[in-house]
Amino acid sequence: ADWPTRGAIDVKILTVRYAADDEPILKNLTFSINAQEKIGIVGRTGAGKSTLSLAFLRILDHIDGTICIDDIDTSKIGLRDLRSNLTIIPQDPVLFSGTVRSNLDPFNESDDAALWAALKASHFLETLQDAATTSTPSEDASSSLSAASTVGSDDTASLIKPSTTPVLPAFTLNDTVTDSGSNFSQGRRQLLCIARALLRTPRVVILDGATASVDNLTDAAIQKNYPCTVLTVAHRLRTIVDFDRVLVLDKGEVVEYEYPDRL
Ligand code: ATP
Repeated sequence: ADWPTRGAIDVKILTVRYAADDEPILKNLTFSINAQEKIGIVGRTGAGKSTLSLAFLRILDHIDGTICIDDIDTSKIGLRDLRSNLTIIPQDPVLFSGTVRSNLDPFNESDDAALWAALKASHFLETLQDAATTSTPSEDASSSLSAASTVGSDDTASLIKPSTTPVLPAFTLNDTVTDSGSNFSQGRRQLLCIARALLRTPRVVILDGATASVDNLTDAAIQKNYPCTVLTVAHRLRTIVDFDRVLVLDKGEVVEYEYPDRL
């Protein structure tokens, strides 16, 4: 439960196949990510971006090479531990039928202030505000970005501090989630998953980011705000300036790993 403590990642000659006799989809990937670094993973369709995130959780069987996190070889960690200690936000997450509260906090471990703070930190509340006041979503996103970057917290605990009562009377923690979340847009489901993750102080988050519905908001939330290592799979190449570094995959190989201003 104490792992990972920092979120430093070291990938060495990682080769991944979907079946033993197949050609590898990822070939000899070697790269390191510093703790708390925010990495964008880009590359054309089929390059292997999603496959890389599956390899982190060992959802695939044919993995050679190593993925170490905080100097622990992840292949030596039990699947249950591995998957409960790394956070993956999938492209199209499914929620539980129930309420917003039961989705965020299934075991009733957090008080309302913490839940609201997580919803705020994930930028979920902003999407409601945007919908209520709507003008130009992209401008809303950039103004929220600058607001978020002023948070500048070193620790999740201080990020998730009790906040003031939100100004959105139409939305409550007891709002119903129906049909596995289909009453929320895909983008909002992702943000709710991020909020749930924030409550648990993750050190490594892998975000399969393809949310047309909230534009860059998902990425913005996690990149600017959050004291953990983040790998964002960017299926559509949009802005890359918000990442600390960008890993470019092509046909299963790393072709660049650079600071955005040098690409
Ligand atoms: P996109 O941006 O289009 O989602 P991607 O970079 O995420 O692409 P992957 O989904 O990782 O790419 O796929 C990489 C390669 O692996 C593709 O050639 C794909 O056909 C192949 N692949 C994906 N899933 C499987 C599977 N279950 N079995 C066999 N091959 C697969």
